[in-house]
Amino acid sequence: MQSSLVESQTMLQLKCPNCSREFVRRVARVGLRERLAGWFYIYPFKCQICGFRFRFLQWGVRYMRVEEDHREYDRMAMNFPVTFRGDQFEGEGSVLNISMGGCSFSTAGQLKVGAIMRLELKMSNEAGPVVVEAAVLRHWHNQIAGVEFIQWRQGERERLQLFVRGLLIGRRS
Ligand SMILES: [Zn+2]
Repeated sequence: MQSSLVESQTMLQLKCPNCSREFVRRVARVGLRERLAGWFYIYPFKCQICGFRFRFLQWGVRYMRVEEDHREYDRMAMNFPVTFRGDQFEGEGSVLNISMGGCSFSTAGQLKVGAIMRLELKMSNEAGPVVVEAAVLRHWHNQIAGVEFIQWRQGERERLQLFVRGLLIGRRS
């Protein structure tokens, strides 16, 4: 992680213009225009809760390069069961980290990059699983799957938002 102290301290004061929550993260600049804007202290940010992307001017603050993988969400480490089901396959695994954009899980099953699957994230014993209607397998290595969430059923994304928000609050204190 290359993120600097300046970056983390400043980000705590920034709020998302869309949902007013304060969990925003500086993200990689896209395109020449944003790269030029960096010279004028304008940087792109992304809300970790609602996904809103915005630019923000901060006089005198220059950011270090963000992490090289260009992920726009922080992924938080954890461990809870997940089941997955695709056209011709199904199985179960254990979630290793999660964000609003996707998750990684380990599984004994066999998967192929590009596979589309429905996920049931069993993060709580009290409430039912959070259902991701469609996720696509982006990475598959050493029995660890990296999936991106691409389609939600009504209300399920909001349930995950509450969960992720709770994690972010817990991590901060
Ligand atoms: Zn937001």
